[in-house]
Amino acid sequence: MLGLLFGKRTTAAQTAPDTHDTHARMPVQMHWRSDMTLPVPDWYAMHDGLPDDADDGLQYAYYDAAAAHWLDVLADALPADYRQTGATDFLLLSAQSARDAALVLRSCTQALRAIKESLGPLACDSGNGRYIVLVFASQDDYDAYVSQYQGEGEEAPMSSGVFINAGYGHFASWHDGLDELEAVVVHELTHALLAHLPLPEWLHEGFAVNVECSLLPRLADPRLALYRPDEMAARHADWWNATTIQEFWSGAAFHTAGEGVELAYELAREITALAAREDETAFRAFAAIADGHDAGSAAAIDTLGYPLEHLIEAVLGEGDWAPRPDRWMAASPA
Ligand SMILES: [Zn+2]
Repeated sequence: MLGLLFGKRTTAAQTAPDTHDTHARMPVQMHWRSDMTLPVPDWYAMHDGLPDDADDGLQYAYYDAAAAHWLDVLADALPADYRQTGATDFLLLSAQSARDAALVLRSCTQALRAIKESLGPLACDSGNGRYIVLVFASQDDYDAYVSQYQGEGEEAPMSSGVFINAGYGHFASWHDGLDELEAVVVHELTHALLAHLPLPEWLHEGFAVNVECSLLPRLADPRLALYRPDEMAARHADWWNATTIQEFWSGAAFHTAGEGVELAYELAREITALAAREDETAFRAFAAIADGHDAGSAAAIDTLGYPLEHLIEAVLGEGDWAPRPDRWMAASPA
C-alpha cells in the first residue's frame, strides 16, 4: 500500500474520451459583465437565475449550458477561427486542428482520471458544469483575455497557463504554452476534487504539489531543481521560526509575496509526502477530517497518532512548531 497515494502509476485506459460537438443544451438566459472587453458572463447574475429548488442535476445542466453558450459567444468575438469541442468532463475552446483539440481533451481527461485514482474516496467531483479549457491561438489573444481579470486577485500571468478562479473557474493557455498548462490543470483539478473537504491550506497545497510531481515526473526531476537539497535545507532553516511557522499553519504564507511563498509550498510538499509515506491509511483518515481552523491539529492526534509539529521537526529539526490558532491574527502580515 505504501507509496500508492502519490506513487507513479500507469493509467489503464488510453482510449480517447467521447467527444461530441453538439451537446444537448438546456436554454439559459445569459447575463454578461459590462466591465470586460471580451465576453464574460456575470456569474453572480447567472447564479440568481437558477431556480431555488434546483437539484444537483439541474444545477449542473444549467451551468454547463451557460458555459457552452459563453464559449460560442467568445469564439465569435475572437479574431481567429475558434471552435468549441467537448468531452464528458471538459469543454475546450481553441483554434487548433480537430486532431490537436482532441489531444488536449484527451490529456485533460486522463489527468482527471489519474488524479481521481490517486485520491480515491477523498475526491469528490461535484462541479457545476464541465471543466472549461481555453487555448488561445496567440500570446496576444491569451494576454488580452487574462489581463481582463487583473485586479480581481489574479496576478499578472507569469506562465503560459493559468487557472482563473473568478466565477466559473477555468483554465487558459495558448498554443505554445500547453506544457505549462498541463501542470496547472493537474494542480488545480486536485484542488477542485478536494474542495468539498474543510482542509487546511497547507494540506490542500501539499496534495496539489505531490499529485503534480507524481503525475508529471519531469517536474520532480532533481536535475531541474533550482537548489540542491542542502541549499534548500539552509533556506528553510533561515526562513522558518516560531512566527513564520504560524503563517504556514494559518495559510497566510501561501498568499504573501517573495521567498516565503515558495518555501511554504516546498514545506507543504515535504510534510504531506512524509505523513502519507509513514502510514497511508492513517493519512487518508487524517485528510478526510483535517480542519483549517486548527491546521488539522486535532485530526492529527486522532488519526496519525502524533502532533503536527512532529512533521515539521522531521524536516527542520527541533523548534517551536506547534500550530497556535490564537496567534494567527497577530501572525498574519499586515
Ligand atoms: Zn494550489
